[in-house]
Amino acid sequence: MPNELDAATPAGRFAPSPSGDLHLGNLRTALLAWLFARSTGRRFLLRVEDLDRVRAGAADRQLADLAALGLDWDGDVVYQSERLPLYDAAIARLQRAGLTYECFCTRREIQQAASAPHAPAGAYPGTCRNLTEAQRDDRRASGRAPALRLRAGTDKFTVTDQLLGPYTGLVDDLVLRRGDGIPAYNLAVVVDDAAQGIDQVVRGDDLLSSAPRQAYLAGLLGLPAPTYAHVPLALNADGKRLAKRDGAVTLADQAALGHSPADVLGMLARSLGMADPDEIVTLAQLLERWDPRALPTGPWVFGS
Ligand code: GLU
Repeated sequence: MPNELDAATPAGRFAPSPSGDLHLGNLRTALLAWLFARSTGRRFLLRVEDLDRVRAGAADRQLADLAALGLDWDGDVVYQSERLPLYDAAIARLQRAGLTYECFCTRREIQQAASAPHAPAGAYPGTCRNLTEAQRDDRRASGRAPALRLRAGTDKFTVTDQLLGPYTGLVDDLVLRRGDGIPAYNLAVVVDDAAQGIDQVVRGDDLLSSAPRQAYLAGLLGLPAPTYAHVPLALNADGKRLAKRDGAVTLADQAALGHSPADVLGMLARSLGMADPDEIVTLAQLLERWDPRALPTGPWVFGS
């Protein structure tokens, strides 16, 4: 079935950062992204977001773990580190439109300015937005490599999430290219989703607040924004985001306990209310049972 889908077929995706092994929460999000895509006749694409936070060997292990669960994907895996010209072209387009400026702020300066009264929480305070040419030359002469920011024309934007409904969130002068020359996550995601024909973004709800920025940026680049479904995260028993230290949280940890990938798929399916206790399920069965409206709305507490 999936391999017959051609490149014109719209796609969903999973886009892990190769910073370590995927844990059960990541695997659950991947399963959900796969179910959303396959149940709607979409291609399912994998993109390794390796512009940042790369640990040697992690991407290969992530792909192997997804395959071990039975998740399949279409075409070749895409690596962001091989697509720099695409991001450069998008940045150049924004530059030509006068929608960028150089920012010389350190993280510390941003934190200090952003904690001033009346500053919207989490927004870049605009320190470098209206520097004069002379001020800019001064700062360049100090030797600090500037980041490039978007000159945003709004401070908020609304997206519609398939699971959560309309969501209005902050848009600020987000970073397009970091001081070290690397394209920023928000820019790369927007460029890649559109370039790959991805019109359905399913990911953890920790990224919900990024969706307005990304959809707004897509519009500025003349790109269609995807539909979004932000899914609840996996938490540990303390209610914190699941992490490596929370026990047997990777496929390898589970294997060491004698649990096969099929057992783990069953565990994930139960966490989604899609399997009975101890039932062994296949992905084909999960696809038949799939109903996004029946998804649990709260987080999955691992180990409970
Ligand atoms: N690479 C991001 C992460 O692993 C996800 C990006 C996205 O799904 O938009 O957190």
